[in-house]
Amino acid sequence: MSDNSNTLKNYINNSSYIVAFTGAGVSADSGIPTYRGADGVWQKYDPSKFTSIDYFYKDPSYYWNFFKDVRYPGLKQAQPNPAHYALAELEGKGPLKSVITQNIDGLHRLAGSSNVLELHGNTRRIVCLKCSEKYTMDEAFELLQNQIPPKCPVCQGLLKPDVVLFGESLPLEVLNEAQEEARRCDLFLSIGSSLVVQPAASLPDMAKDSHSKLVIINKEPTSSDFKADLVIHGSASETLRKALYLGD
Ligand code: NAD
Repeated sequence: MSDNSNTLKNYINNSSYIVAFTGAGVSADSGIPTYRGADGVWQKYDPSKFTSIDYFYKDPSYYWNFFKDVRYPGLKQAQPNPAHYALAELEGKGPLKSVITQNIDGLHRLAGSSNVLELHGNTRRIVCLKCSEKYTMDEAFELLQNQIPPKCPVCQGLLKPDVVLFGESLPLEVLNEAQEEARRCDLFLSIGSSLVVQPAASLPDMAKDSHSKLVIINKEPTSSDFKADLVIHGSASETLRKALYLGD
């Protein structure tokens, strides 16, 4: 094992309250593109439009066409990768207490993680903005075949993915819980996040200020690297697989 993998393995083995904080990079090996970073390429749809609440209200059909062409087919075929499974296994063994994720793809739960704090919601859930009725993404996809944007079958209200778009506030309860976890842990693993989206990106600082060890695993450098006890520039799945399974 490399020195970095050894150090990560030692940190994990010597910690009793580990919190993982994940971003889009953790799902890149499942075939879901990131927004930022070298592989974050979106050709047909502009992320500044399909991630914006202002644009959603201005032209909801833009999001729903993106959902039909890109998001839905992408999520239908995406499977958890070794990084998701490694975190689920670490929870099962005991030391990992929670996964705080910025991702909206639901892959941590599919891999078997149970204590998942979804800061930005889950794109597999669809909600009616008028009567709050919830739908699955399969139901929304069915509705899309008849009209775009799809309307709520109960009240004809506008349907929206149950996610936090740019311009919306994070769910306060989930954010508070995530902050508590960051203050409580003795090892904070930031995995696959560019650490630029606030307030989520301040969680590593919070952990560090509360005397936790901080490990950053990301393909590219982040502006928080200098604060970390260990920085690994590499693939999330490869790094976690090595640190958790090799040398046992
Ligand atoms: P980001 O797109 O800003 O950054 C992703 C980072 O992951 C980049 O710095 C990149 O270098 C790194 N990366 C790429 N492939 C990697 C790999 N295999 N292993 C390790 N690192 C890798 O992502 P963010 O920080 O999560 O913030 C963007 C926002 O976009 C979040 O709010 C999130 O909700 C949303 N988003 C979610 C998904 C998803 O649910 N899978 C996908 C794209 C964007």
